[in-house]
Amino acid sequence: MTSNVIPMTTSASVPTGSESAIAAGGTVTDRLVEANARYADAFTDPGMDARPVLQVAVVACMDARLDLHAALGLELGDCHTIRNAGGVVTDDVIRSLTISQRKLGTRSVVLIHHTGCGLESLTEDFRNELEAEVGQRPAWAVESFRDVDQDVRQSMQRVRTSPFVPHTDDVRGFVFDVKTGLLREVDPAS
Ligand SMILES: [Zn+2]
Repeated sequence: MTSNVIPMTTSASVPTGSESAIAAGGTVTDRLVEANARYADAFTDPGMDARPVLQVAVVACMDARLDLHAALGLELGDCHTIRNAGGVVTDDVIRSLTISQRKLGTRSVVLIHHTGCGLESLTEDFRNELEAEVGQRPAWAVESFRDVDQDVRQSMQRVRTSPFVPHTDDVRGFVFDVKTGLLREVDPAS
């Protein structure tokens, strides 16, 4: 059996325990289920209810390099995390924020985009490509962007102007630098 080596272009190309576990056999999901069994062994019921302790909802890109809990000093139960490609404020994010604030007591919203986001290399033409391939045009926008700061501003604006989200006095937006781990706040007025 031969194996194809896929060249990696990022600095994160050092083989990790995760990669060697997958190479040793089994699917990645098998690996996750095994890890869960160990997690549950050590787990004790924290006795929390569903309302986030810090009354905050964090909306962020799904990017694998962004470890929200570690990067923001968050503990279990502290916050709602709402993630998608780009961390953009779509109707479904508004749905989650509405439930988060109206039913589960959060009051603050933190929006996090990041450097090197995959959405910067896409265009809305991606929808045309999909239509040409599968014969159906997606109803959703790609939400690609060129200027990450401007996209954070647009996201803040979408939260602030939503009629469904009641608490909009503490909505702040940031860009996470995947190389330094630092957040940079985006001025909503610029
Ligand atoms: Zn991203």
